[in-house]
Amino acid sequence: MDRRNFLATVGTAVGASFIGRNAKASEKIEMMGILIDTTKCLGCRSCEYSCAEANGYPEPSDDSDKLFNSHRKTSENSLTVVNKFVIDENEIYVKEQCMHCAQPACAAACLTRAMHKTKEGPVVWDGSKCMGCRFCMISCPFDIPKFEYFSANPKISKCVMCWERLAKGEIPACAENCPNEAIVFGKRSDLIHEANNRIYSEPDAYVKHIYGEHEVGGTGVLYLSSVSFENFKFRTDLGEEAYPEFTKEFLYGVPVILTLFPAFLLALSNSTKREKTFTEGEGGNGH
Ligand code: SF4
Ligand code: SF4
Repeated sequence: MDRRNFLATVGTAVGASFIGRNAKASEKIEMMGILIDTTKCLGCRSCEYSCAEANGYPEPSDDSDKLFNSHRKTSENSLTVVNKFVIDENEIYVKEQCMHCAQPACAAACLTRAMHKTKEGPVVWDGSKCMGCRFCMISCPFDIPKFEYFSANPKISKCVMCWERLAKGEIPACAENCPNEAIVFGKRSDLIHEANNRIYSEPDAYVKHIYGEHEVGGTGVLYLSSVSFENFKFRTDLGEEAYPEFTKEFLYGVPVILTLFPAFLLALSNSTKREKTFTEGEGGNGH
């Protein structure tokens, strides 16, 4: 399938899945995802810039030479980062972001459902329900959710697969602005099909492994590479079982008082926020 046909298929799928949400609640919606082909990444970092712009984060530094000297992780100010690896004298660039697991450990650990998996695929976060316990950060096997420690009103930040853009029928900003088909957005099943096509039509260009197809029960973000994924410091020790399977054991052991406690804390947190706003309002008026 060439790029034009593939994107056309994907566009139809995006429209259908989101229109479907309103049309029939019972209709099965196929999970959307992102395929990152590291053999095609140019290291231009367009995805980082477009992500920052689309999500209202500060513009990333343009000093790529300096940034590529260290291995960067996503942060509270950057939902996606591109790292450079030199393997057998070849430069390979790898975009990192939330993996949007099929059964996310962060969502399973969140007692208030502030972090949750949408039926369309993205794992999103609802600030109005968050009580700031940071269980999501601790439980994520990919170390993705970050907390804004230095903010007066801290939030959990992570890639949400441009959820608001998807709802408008658009595709994620990073995928839209990648100049070399290194990022492709679409139905996860189509992406796996496309990844296998790429592997089997150019067997010397790829290792026969789609990272994310089976890891932790499958993820929405999938990777292709010419070298094994250990080279990119990817976790290759995670197994194929979804992490919530482990969390379930933990939650069964949590007494009911602990499952009610979050609601209490959330109510307390909201009332403190309200009080703070009221007091600030009074001060602002000079009374
Ligand atoms: S910090 Fe918020 S989102 Fe994370 S687990 Fe706690 S309530 Fe859920
Ligand atoms: S999907 Fe959106 S939020 Fe996620 S990395 Fe791409 S541009 Fe950033």
